[in-house]
Parts: sequence; structure tokens; C-alpha cells
Amino acid sequence: MRIVHLAAEFAPIAKAGGLGEVLLGLTREVSKKGLDVEVILPKYDLIDLSKVQNLSIEVPNFKCLDSQNAVWSCRYEECQLRLLESRHPAGYFHRGKIYGCEDDIARFTYFSRAALEYLALQNKPIDVLHLHDWHVALCAPMVRHLFTQLRVKSIVLSIHNIEYQGKCAVSDLDRIGLKGDFYLAPHLLQDDNPKHPKTINLLKGGLVFSDALIPVSPTYAQEILTPQYGGGLDGTLRKLKPKIFGILNGIDQKIWDPEKDPALSMHYSTESVAKGKQAARAKIKLDGTKRPWIGAITRLVVQKGPELLEEAIETTLKLGGSYALLGSSPHPKMQEHFNQLKKKYEGNARVLFQFEYNEQLAHELYAALDLLLVPSHYEPCGLTQMIAMRYGTVPIVRSTGGLKDTVFDAEDSSTPAVKRNGFVFRDATKASMNQTLKRAFELFNSDPVTFQTLIRRGMQTDFSWKNPTLEYIKLYRTLLKSALDVNPIRINVVAN
Ligand code: ADP
Repeated sequence: MRIVHLAAEFAPIAKAGGLGEVLLGLTREVSKKGLDVEVILPKYDLIDLSKVQNLSIEVPNFKCLDSQNAVWSCRYEECQLRLLESRHPAGYFHRGKIYGCEDDIARFTYFSRAALEYLALQNKPIDVLHLHDWHVALCAPMVRHLFTQLRVKSIVLSIHNIEYQGKCAVSDLDRIGLKGDFYLAPHLLQDDNPKHPKTINLLKGGLVFSDALIPVSPTYAQEILTPQYGGGLDGTLRKLKPKIFGILNGIDQKIWDPEKDPALSMHYSTESVAKGKQAARAKIKLDGTKRPWIGAITRLVVQKGPELLEEAIETTLKLGGSYALLGSSPHPKMQEHFNQLKKKYEGNARVLFQFEYNEQLAHELYAALDLLLVPSHYEPCGLTQMIAMRYGTVPIVRSTGGLKDTVFDAEDSSTPAVKRNGFVFRDATKASMNQTLKRAFELFNSDPVTFQTLIRRGMQTDFSWKNPTLEYIKLYRTLLKSALDVNPIRINVVAN
């Protein structure tokens, strides 16, 4: 079975967050099961090519619209990696970053089209074209209408975060060679918000024209059907419910392994977790005597509950612990707010702020902390809580999305005792979170035996890609079996 993934990220060479890690973990495990897996990614200037060995040029020159491209290829992490080099005069992938450019729409719609041009050149049948998020969602309608020569049996779209949709103008579709006006219809790519009747929604194109939609956790698959979590697309999603299959992400247990992690000064297992944590703490400039240590490793965006992350500083200090925050924000105003907070706590040995993307420090913190706080307003899956558990750090999470599917409260009698592995609060409010922080501190201070049980349980849980991979393969097979059934969307909608 041949699976071709199109995505904007692939860890570790091009990672901005969870998406890149998911691509790596999923493709590695699916490849191990004997499927033929390929990943096509933009050749960003930020990719450290010394880490991609045996990269060679596969197609030196091919045209997409008016500009030239090349494709580089190698075996990488069990799969066939293809880096699409765009020589577009706008230097689309020479920006020193993956996202956050004013012309992100132009960059990723161009990548989507160029990737399909390359696949058309390759002229090899594809069993599953696996798309990820809005960046490449437009490939679904393009395969149905513009690249009909591609022998694609089925298209799936993973929804890593429904809030990011790639809203744009009709002219953005025109620019990449589609007839934009045609798509401005409620059953096609017109944005569902009646106040924006002229807006095109790229993610919606992926929703409508894919054969299956995969939100990254079962709870998120339910949540996005509601106005609260559906990002304005809940109406469309409710209509498409039969093709939605929530599959929980895994984490890459090779990268996240306290027994082998090269970022740690001491490796540890469930037997030596206390010593391992002590060693990790020695490297971090935080008051070592005040415990528990609580922290967060996160993008500083509204989704992640920045006001709650801030509130937790004072609560932690009052309760007698120390607090660490590793994060950074793509939004200058938000970053400035946290910079001011850092100034406020300057000289306080019990508070550590580090505002950058720092992989090494992230690994050290997962090991050093006692508790990891994830107070998200919504969380499609969330990886940090699973990584934390692997390192013997007990998560405190808000009950939403994948957090709800992976963390079970230590004191919740409705959950079997063997599943309880952390602390959960229901409402994204300061009161609800503070009360739970208090419970966690109390258990840490007064009942070390139960706290150790939580640590051990988390470390022993299988959060690997093993089970999710089986679910993905099962879904791929089901789709291929039904690929000959005529999808009504394919016959009702014919462009031009
Ligand atoms: P999201 O993808 O929404 O940002 P996830 O929980 O799915 O959130 O994944 C976040 C990933 O990014 C984790 O691997 C986490 O360790 C990492 N991460 C987040 N912020 C930082 C940072 N400032 N430095 C290093 N790693 C970070």
C-alpha cells in the first residue's frame, strides 16, 4: 500500500510544534508495518541539511505555473522523504521560519499545487493521499478537479487544529490556477460564516473533498461538532460526521525516553526516577529547595490558556512551590506581556522564564519537573502531557480534547484506580485550576506513596504510536475497500 503524506512540518528537521512530531512518529511506525510511506515537505532554508544524509536531487527541474522547482529525495527515518524546492521569485520557503509570514496563503497553496505537479510527473498510483491541516487541504479539491490524471484511490485529512483554516480570497485560488469563483458556494469552499460570503476557506476544501477526516483524538472528534470547538466549521462537520474518525496521537518513544535521552545528564527508569529528577534539576536555575516544581512547555497562544499559566505563578508561590515556563509566542503583544512578567519576577529564585524554542531545555524540564501544567481552552490532542508522564512528571490538565483522553484524575472515583495518572480540572477558570493545583500540592506533600504511584503509572503507560498506527492502517484498508464506491461529492461537483 502506498501512502503519500503532504505536510508543512516533519520533526526534527522542520518542527514548529506537535504536527512535526506526529508526522515523524506516524510515518515511522506505519513504515515499520511494511507499508510504502512517503512524505513531501517544502525545502525550507531552515532545514539543517547536514542532518539529512544521502539527499540527492530526484527531479532537477519542473514547472508549477510560471516558476521552476526541484525535488530532492532520500530515505529518512524509515520513510521516503521528498523536499520540494521552490524557485519562485518570492522565495516562499526562504524565510527562516515555517509559518507566520504575511503570504502564508500564497506559500502553502503554491506548495500544494507544486507537490501535485510533482506527483503527476511521477505518474505512480497512490493508495492514500494523506493531508495534514489547512496548509495542504486544497490538494483535496485540486485532485478531484485539476489533477484528475493522478491515480489517487483515497484522500484523508488529519485535523490537528481546526482553528487554523487558511481563510483567503477568491483571487488566491485564481493565482494558483483554479477558478476561484466556482468554489465560492456553501457546499464547496465558501467560509461558513454568513458575514464573510466572499471568503474562501481552504480547510473546508479538505473537509468536503476528502474521503475521511481524522481529528487527532476521539474527544476532539466529538468536540469539533459543536459551536464551542468547531471554529465556525461545526455545521459542515456535522454533515460530514460519517466520515470522521478520531484517532489519538502517540508520542515518539525513541525521542522521548528518559532511559536513553542524550539531552539528560543522567538516564533514569521507574526505579531511579527520584535520582534522575535530582540530576536534571541540578542543571536548571530554579530554587532547588522549594518543591514541588511545576512548569509548562508551550506555545504562548490563547489556546494554551496564557491567563491561567500566569495565574499559576502566584498560586504556586503561595502554595510553596517553584515555577518554570518554557515558551514563546508568535504574537508580539502576547510575548511582550510575558516579557513584562519576567521583569516582575526578576530576582525571584523560585520562578524561571525562558522565552525561546529550546529543545534541549524542554527535555531537561520534562525530567526535572514534578508537575506539568496544561490549562488549555481546547487541545486537539496535546503531546506535552504524554511526554511529561514518560519522564515521571505528573500532568495537571484541563479536561478537553486529547487531554481528556489521556489524563485521569488521581481522586476521581468514577475512573478505575489503575488508570488514574494526574490531575484534571473541568472549567478553564482560575478558580477551577487553583483548586486543582492545591489538590496536587497536597498530595505531593502529604501522600508521597500515592504520588509515586501516579509517577510510575504514567511512566509505564504505552503512549507510543503502536496502537494509533494499527487504527490508521485499519482505516486506510477500509477506505481502499470502498474506494470503488462512487462518492457523491466527486460526481456532483465538476469544476469549470
Ligand atoms: P502544539 O502542537 O499545539 O504546540 P503539542 O502539545 O501538540 O502542542 O506539541 C508541542 C510540542 O512542542 C511538544 O513536543 C513540546 O515539547 C514542544 N514545545 C512547545 N514549546 C516549546 C519550546 N518553547 N521549546 C521547545 N519545545 C517546545
